[in-house]
Amino acid sequence: MKTILITGSNKGIGFKIARQLAKSGHHVILSARNETRLKQAVDKLKSEQLDVEDLLMDISDEKSISHAAIEFAKRKIKLDVLINNAAVLFRNDVSIIRENELLLQTVTTNSIGSLLVCKAFLPFMKNPSLIINISSGGGSMTDPVGGWSPAYCVSKTLLNSITRQLAYELLSKNISVNAVCPGWVRTDMGGGGATRSVEKGAETPVWMAVEAPQGITGRFIRDKEEISW
Ligand code: NAP
Repeated sequence: MKTILITGSNKGIGFKIARQLAKSGHHVILSARNETRLKQAVDKLKSEQLDVEDLLMDISDEKSISHAAIEFAKRKIKLDVLINNAAVLFRNDVSIIRENELLLQTVTTNSIGSLLVCKAFLPFMKNPSLIINISSGGGSMTDPVGGWSPAYCVSKTLLNSITRQLAYELLSKNISVNAVCPGWVRTDMGGGGATRSVEKGAETPVWMAVEAPQGITGRFIRDKEEISW
């Protein structure tokens, strides 16, 4: 049985990952910033007799992250896996020249927020343990630029770079750090026209959390295979 913290898990891919892992007998801590939706998500899984708990945390707010870490310390829990899944994609994300503030907000949540969560929860990570950053093909430096959501894509490129640097920095602590692309998924973020179900989107993150060889680190993964950065 593993203990797994998932940010942004009150809906979408994060919620599906939480449910699948809890159904396999793991203890899952669901986290999000929207308290009502977080409580509803946790209550739903508890009503299915799953072993879950909640942790309120806004990853765009350093104070909220440190409050969450202080609260978490009281619970005397150690983590096998941290999944940085929370992210935003703004509908008016159409130009990084015109929308500087939007770029800043997106990077603050998707990239720096995820890094700050890693930092705050490092004291609770076991040796060995695993960090999974949910990224996107939109952050790839080898795929052609798709012409969609440029601030979001920049934020995922930065998250990928953070993943590689953290993988190096945390080698000595025996913590593996990888980025996972779930594919284009039918969630509030992905929209109804996306090609993948939420189940499919959750499949590789779930595999990375509990089945993939522990030694894999500093990689970008989609559909259980390494892809280029
Ligand atoms: P979603 O349905 O929009 O869910 C986003 C989740 O992130 C929600 O639980 C939301 O919680 C949380 N969140 C947003 N800002 C937060 C903050 N500041 N602090 C804490 N939680 C926050 O998105 P999704 O499609 O499931 O996406 C999940 C992950 O997959 C993201 O990293 C996304 O970039 C990635 N991804 C998605 C797709 C896709 O096609 N859907 C493709 C590639 C990658 P609140 O309700 O509390 O705001």
